[in-house]
Amino acid sequence: MPVLTNEALKWHVNRLQSLPADLRQFYADIFTAQIELLPEEGFLILPPAARVESCWRQGRALASMGFPAEVKANVVRAARANICQLAMVLGKHVFFLQGAGIGVEMPEPVLAEKSYACLQELLEHYDLDPARVPAHNLQDAGVKAEWFVALAALAPLYVQYGQAVSRRFNLDGWRNGYCPVCGLAPAMAKIVAPEGKRVLECWFCATQWVFPRLKCPFCGNDRPYELGQWYLEDDPDVRAAYCKVCNRYLKVLDAEARNGEAILALENLATWQLDLAVQGRGYLPGAGCAVLPGFPRY
Ligand SMILES: [Zn+2]
Ligand SMILES: [Zn+2]
Repeated sequence: MPVLTNEALKWHVNRLQSLPADLRQFYADIFTAQIELLPEEGFLILPPAARVESCWRQGRALASMGFPAEVKANVVRAARANICQLAMVLGKHVFFLQGAGIGVEMPEPVLAEKSYACLQELLEHYDLDPARVPAHNLQDAGVKAEWFVALAALAPLYVQYGQAVSRRFNLDGWRNGYCPVCGLAPAMAKIVAPEGKRVLECWFCATQWVFPRLKCPFCGNDRPYELGQWYLEDDPDVRAAYCKVCNRYLKVLDAEARNGEAILALENLATWQLDLAVQGRGYLPGAGCAVLPGFPRY
């Protein structure tokens, strides 16, 4: 089962004792809302196999092909409804968010309107292709509530699309460090048994794909002496794999250590102390921003 149920989510979130209670509750509410906002399967019609293969052969993510006009209209309608739900969740946590430096000093309807304007920008300027959104807008999701809401509202639609793509097509031929579905970067990876493959997970649509262990997904550097890893003594199962060429890092979990039950979006939140330690050494998170509206899946 690739996407969590809300019961399973609660159980996993309660295990995140390294997170302050208010942060845990905030993300539990966001993720709960996002799971409820998952569209029906088949909401986004898959492109024909020949088109997918040709797109991937050119190293392009599927979202770069664009969606048919009627699909775009459906996406915007659904994401608009999602925005209202998520603006309400942020409204519930306004004191905590302000303390965390996220600006939500506006009433819920204003936040929803501003978020809708961000969604319109995603549609009109970037054709709903997340990889075309300038990095500063994605990073804004960590500080500006309207970008956080817009991206968190769009994510469930992309998650469902990514799940359908992963079921229908073989991703083994995808050799890039960015997501084959939406083109965005991974925020977290896991090493899985038995072969010890490294599986990357897109921070936005939660699509997973295999990528070499000794290669930087952000710049492609594979010279061993320019790669390294860093971890905290009390949690050696999660390591920050850093690259001295592009100065970026990716957190990698040994999934065996969690009995294969790793939920990477939650592990990403739970290991914030590792982010601080690596960033203190001058490295940047490869996904551009350490705290983003990800999506929990197995
Ligand atoms: Zn993606
Ligand atoms: Zn690199």
